[in-house]
Amino acid sequence: MYTPAPHARRPLPLLTGEQIAGLRPSLADVIEYRKSGLSLNWIVGCPLDCGYCVRHLFDNFEMKVPRRLMSDEDAVTALTGHRYFRPHKTPIQLLNRATDPMLPVVKPHLFAVLRALDDQGLTNHVLIITRWRVDAEDCAVLNSFRNLRLTVLVTHSGIDHPAIEPVDSEIAAGSLRTLYEHAERYRTVLYWRPIVPGLNDSQAHLQRARELSAHAHATVFTGLFFRQEIADYYAAHGLPVPYEDTARRKIMPEVAERRILYYFHRPQHAEAPWGALFRKTSCAVAYAHAEADYNGHFGIQELCDICPPAQVERCRGAWVRPDLEEVTAAARELGATGRVEVDERAIIVEGLDEPPRYYLQHGYGFQCHDRSKPHHYRQHGRAPIGWEAENGPTAS
Ligand code: SF4
Repeated sequence: MYTPAPHARRPLPLLTGEQIAGLRPSLADVIEYRKSGLSLNWIVGCPLDCGYCVRHLFDNFEMKVPRRLMSDEDAVTALTGHRYFRPHKTPIQLLNRATDPMLPVVKPHLFAVLRALDDQGLTNHVLIITRWRVDAEDCAVLNSFRNLRLTVLVTHSGIDHPAIEPVDSEIAAGSLRTLYEHAERYRTVLYWRPIVPGLNDSQAHLQRARELSAHAHATVFTGLFFRQEIADYYAAHGLPVPYEDTARRKIMPEVAERRILYYFHRPQHAEAPWGALFRKTSCAVAYAHAEADYNGHFGIQELCDICPPAQVERCRGAWVRPDLEEVTAAARELGATGRVEVDERAIIVEGLDEPPRYYLQHGYGFQCHDRSKPHHYRQHGRAPIGWEAENGPTAS
């Protein structure tokens, strides 16, 4: 059984009501529905100082010492009682926004919440993303959960600019190897990100990622969130600015993707010439558990061209175009306005923000797009920077 290190035995202090009132409301709200799952963030604060951290968006980057917004028990209740939570169905993410879940002082709380969810018999996917140290004892705990479908994604960028990423990538590499070596009931994914052309896509970086991918059940590659707050931080600290523009979605330029696919391609592997390499997080997680993608990316066929054939068949078998009348009723109940459509790629709605759209998407295993934010062919869900869309918008 897991025994926290002496310095980690004391529970993290709770923020006072006054302190919580001083946080951005979006940070004080412990639950956020994201594409990869319903995300529970009851601990905020991180000492790791990654320059591109999303905490810039919450004005929380200076909070280096993790603190709890509520008790672990209350966090579990908030999650399982959330209006969008469905037992056994809704994918869950834990502590992926404002701290690293494997920090020694955070980890006991992560394990307590996992235990409480597992003890309820829940079989939901749970995603944990870390770049910190994971040891064999941690793996034993992660293997001990009987019901949850657990995936530990290890962030590794290979960026060696100390002001952009002060944490040595070797730590993450070591964690990945340890996780993979000890995996029994959980799965581990190499989360290769953020890829920034000119910074971490040299031949040496690609070679390193390919070597590491042998120590993971799947690998997902993705780009950088480069919002205005992060651009401001780069400018204020004299860091090399990767893009002239900022964007709402992740930036993954076509040229970088081409280089990666070229490097990973091995024609002699007829079964899966790119290996277990994915563009989308949920695809990698689903593959690692031998299941169909819960985000219904199969409808966006150009995403599937690098996927192992057996996985393509799995997704094909599970992918069912939902009934328009039923979807319309469900969307209306959530507040959709205007016409609801279902085409060969996605459900298309108006007037719903991301949480209800993800609720529909995860419920049907079918993409759900906002008519006003069309996804372009071949740059699915990514920023247009570095791409020339070929066929124009697909959801209009
Ligand atoms: S077949 Fe397509 S949707 Fe399914 S896991 Fe592969 S890439 Fe993702």
